Amino acid sequence: MLSINKKDNQLVFAGKTPSDLEHIAGGTPCYIYDRNQIKNNIIALKTLLPKKIKLHYAIKANPMPNLVAHAANYLDGLDVASHQELLTALSTGIEPGKVSIAGPGKTEKSLLAAIISGVVINVESKTELIRIQKIASLHKKQANVAFRINPDFELKGAAMKMSGGPKQFGIDAEVFAETFSMVNEQSINFVGFHIFSGSQNLSVDALLESYRKALELAFVLSEQINVLPKQINIGGGIGVSYHSDQVPVDIKRLCLGLHELLDELATKLVDTEVHLELGRFLVANAGMYLCKIVDIKESRGKTFWVCDGGMHHHLANSGNLGQVFRKNHPVFLANCIDSTLTQHVDIVGPLCTPLDIIASNISLPMSEIGGYVAVMLSGAYGASASPQGFLSQGEALEMLI
Ligand SMILES: *Cc1c(COP(=O)(O)O)cnc(C)c1O
Repeated sequence: MLSINKKDNQLVFAGKTPSDLEHIAGGTPCYIYDRNQIKNNIIALKTLLPKKIKLHYAIKANPMPNLVAHAANYLDGLDVASHQELLTALSTGIEPGKVSIAGPGKTEKSLLAAIISGVVINVESKTELIRIQKIASLHKKQANVAFRINPDFELKGAAMKMSGGPKQFGIDAEVFAETFSMVNEQSINFVGFHIFSGSQNLSVDALLESYRKALELAFVLSEQINVLPKQINIGGGIGVSYHSDQVPVDIKRLCLGLHELLDELATKLVDTEVHLELGRFLVANAGMYLCKIVDIKESRGKTFWVCDGGMHHHLANSGNLGQVFRKNHPVFLANCIDSTLTQHVDIVGPLCTPLDIIASNISLPMSEIGGYVAVMLSGAYGASASPQGFLSQGEALEMLI
């Protein structure tokens, strides 16, 4: 997942040294996204996936408009979760029918924009279906609708479970048929199902099981209503190994399993597309967060590097975005990556809270004030998933190169 390039004792990212990156970005702290890495990630995965599978990108992982526009060149579709993300998706020039919008509590504004533009709406509840029908008939349009289903199974081993039991996401499988009977065909074009069961999963077997169960559930539901789906979104959930004790997903084995699964179910999928929606897996290793050491202090036997960036830009790395035990992302002293004279340090940010941690108890080369600290695997759930207004330190710069 993560490969590190070095030159003259410096970390090289997107072909550039830390000081070059700082000078191009216009300062630190900054996020740098490597456009070649994004392209390579998508193409490598598509080469292994069965042709039947359409690869979608869940924009919320990294919604930077330039990045989304770049990735869209190599993708089959985009998944959005708000009106703003919908505009970002449409501005790439993608066909609106290849964009879908999901999420509970969609506003009137996003529903209207989706209906008028022709984006697929993943409907999450009975009352949302009624709202969609009202808006569509008022504007004499037909809304493209997929039903997001809350299945009666969970994704084993997912860090973030989003299905099984009572959930705010999707329509419970057992009330789908009853909900579907409320569909007014004049205002709704039924396109299929969306069954997403969880995120950040590193187990090939659990992922394959969830894809199989999603497809099987979609077949059962489509039999109940006697309508064939044009598309089945089986979710995604492929995780990223952020920490040294996590084993990366064996993508070859996963794709082999998907080939077998789709071959087995081929007769049922003749006129049905299968969508895989991924966020972090496509962009995480293409991003680096770069900040600088502004102070070095000793306190009762511990050495602290105090940096100009931290948790307000990178909540996930600080361990405050859904992690049980805090672990470091891969962190390097980027301007002096190979020196053997090391020390144990705690790397912290400038916020007045002990939660503002960049790395705890890590062994790195000795540094002086002004050294560059690089947090790798930062392309997903970084800037946009962090409380950038907290303590008014200013937002991180973001640059795609
Ligand atoms: C967040 C989300 C994703 C992306 O999850 P990753 O873990 O980033 O791959 C995909 N689909 C839906 C419905 C989501 O909410």
